Amino acid sequence: MSTPIIVGNWKMNGLSADSADRAKQIVDSLATVPAAGVEVVVCPPFTQLALLGPLLKDTPVAMGAQDCHKDDKGAHTGDIAPSMLTDLGTTHVILGHSERRRDHEEVDETVREKTVSAMKAGLTPIVCIGETEDQRQSGQTEDTLGWQIKGSLPDGFAGIVAYEPVWAIGTGLAATIEDITNTVAFIRAELVRQFGDAGKSLRILYGGSVDANNAAGILAIPDVAGALVGGASLKPDAFLTIIRAVPAR
Ligand code: PEP
Repeated sequence: MSTPIIVGNWKMNGLSADSADRAKQIVDSLATVPAAGVEVVVCPPFTQLALLGPLLKDTPVAMGAQDCHKDDKGAHTGDIAPSMLTDLGTTHVILGHSERRRDHEEVDETVREKTVSAMKAGLTPIVCIGETEDQRQSGQTEDTLGWQIKGSLPDGFAGIVAYEPVWAIGTGLAATIEDITNTVAFIRAELVRQFGDAGKSLRILYGGSVDANNAAGILAIPDVAGALVGGASLKPDAFLTIIRAVPAR
């Protein structure tokens, strides 16, 4: 049985003091009442990794980044290499988030290359896939996810897949339990088709408007290993409620 994981994606929000304060609240709460058996990761903006690294060191909260470059050094102005992330104590990295696919025109091949170099650096990649509203409406959800899995996940993939329907992100409209259950079953089948036995144990997360109210239902879905949380991860109380909603497995 894989360890459940709750990942907070802070996106481009908050200054140093806000993030340090938020991180401290989460750490303090988990120190007082541990969430045994649940991995917790927070992903602050790049500029706050150096501040949060020491603050999160030796706590139950790991640190993730929101992207990395495919190369480990070189002439890439403004980019961040995987080794620069591990250097600061980062253990996870979100890749292929739909906002990066949208804002930076990242395609599956870009995501796959980044995933390879993240793994080489010892980071755990959290690779996001998900259909848009148009794709959903035109019955292309499975085709889209199938292509994204094939294109974004390299051979020997050792990471986490986050199913994030694009239409559910930041909208307050999470997918239904039935839809998540069915789509995660499809993703699992594709992972097994692509990776054989190894595909059986890769963790699949759900992301898209997970909040304190709907988390328990979503996290109770048997093959959902956790959640990637955006908006609600900015509110320590809500994020902690989500962490504590993970059922014992
Ligand atoms: C996300 O951006 O990964 C996400 C899931 O956002 P939200 O929880 O706000 O929908």
